[in-house]
Amino acid sequence: MTTLAWGAVTDTGRIRDVNQDGVLSAESVFVVADGMGGHSGGEVASAIAVEKMAEKTAFNSVDELVETVRRANREVLDRALDDRALYGMGTTLVALAAMTVDDTELLCVVNVGDSRLYLRTAGQMMQLTDDHSLVEGMVRDGWITAEEAKVHPQRNVVTRALGVEEPLLVDTWELVPVAGDRYLLCSDGLTNELSDTEIEEILDETADPQEAAAALVEAACAAGGRDNVTVVVVDVVDTEPTEPDPPADRVVANHQAETVPASTDATGNGTVPASADATGNGAEQGRATEPDRTTKQGRTTEPDRTTEPDRATEPDRATEPDGTTKQGRATEPDTAAEPAEPASTELDSLSWRSFVDWSWLRTWPPSWFAALAFIVLLFAMLLMLVLSAVL
Ligand code: CA
Repeated sequence: MTTLAWGAVTDTGRIRDVNQDGVLSAESVFVVADGMGGHSGGEVASAIAVEKMAEKTAFNSVDELVETVRRANREVLDRALDDRALYGMGTTLVALAAMTVDDTELLCVVNVGDSRLYLRTAGQMMQLTDDHSLVEGMVRDGWITAEEAKVHPQRNVVTRALGVEEPLLVDTWELVPVAGDRYLLCSDGLTNELSDTEIEEILDETADPQEAAAALVEAACAAGGRDNVTVVVVDVVDTEPTEPDPPADRVVANHQAETVPASTDATGNGTVPASADATGNGAEQGRATEPDRTTKQGRTTEPDRTTEPDRATEPDRATEPDGTTKQGRATEPDTAAEPAEPASTELDSLSWRSFVDWSWLRTWPPSWFAALAFIVLLFAMLLMLVLSAVL
């Protein structure tokens, strides 16, 4: 059996009045939920997520874990329907659960939203989960850098959350537990204040997981503490049987949920359900019209977008990349480079350009014009002959 040691700390931070984050650290299940929504919505949503995950003391499969997350999603949706004051509430959820599947010890991870899970293993720290956030998509498409994303005004807009729609899209990972590995689950209150390098340093210099969690939260508060901060540190102390030769890549299975939400229209343009704003600021809602595009394959089909850094300053374009399917992007590489149409204030000139397009004439060779002139001349002569005969 895998032996774990863990520590968990949650803090309201230096600015907020209430803590909307939820946290669970049980024998084999660890959860961070970052609630959002006005009134008490954020706290209620994250508390529901944590309660649902705590109902089971042990999970037997990653599917069971996903089903529990989906039940929590339904519960958040139902509660919001019952109580108008809670309308629009939502929560992120990242969870790590140790389980045995077919006699194999596994660590299973599920993620919805922009809370994160990192793996700290010999010599490196990596973010395992993808952020389901607007800025993550912008960084991926090359519109802004990761540094710009940290201060972007829409950095709190998530594109997936519990309490938004059904069915809920859940990313999953199955990992090999290896003694010495350290996992970090956290809300964005940590990652918006500290760089990955700063986080890594604190994790390395603090052996005890509870002390490490406390040190991270303290550092985030010292750096500004502008949001609620929640950290869970989980150490793999021992595994049974011991992994004789641990794989370099701990991931044995990974499922990135489908990329286009059901409620997105045919063009992919944004009727998106819901956007939730982790700040709880209602004015931001509705902007997160970007369906999730977490598949790594999808990224490789969009190389040209990285050449358009200026797009970052055009917020309305944030909804544009979704308008094309992956296939569409691959077969129409030049569409991204087309100059934008001017605002249609001059409707007449636009109509002329659209409906009377003589550009095809330019493709004609001169001999064609000569032939055309000859035919016209013949036709005119024939007409004159007919007219003279009639008259
Ligand atoms: Ca937050």
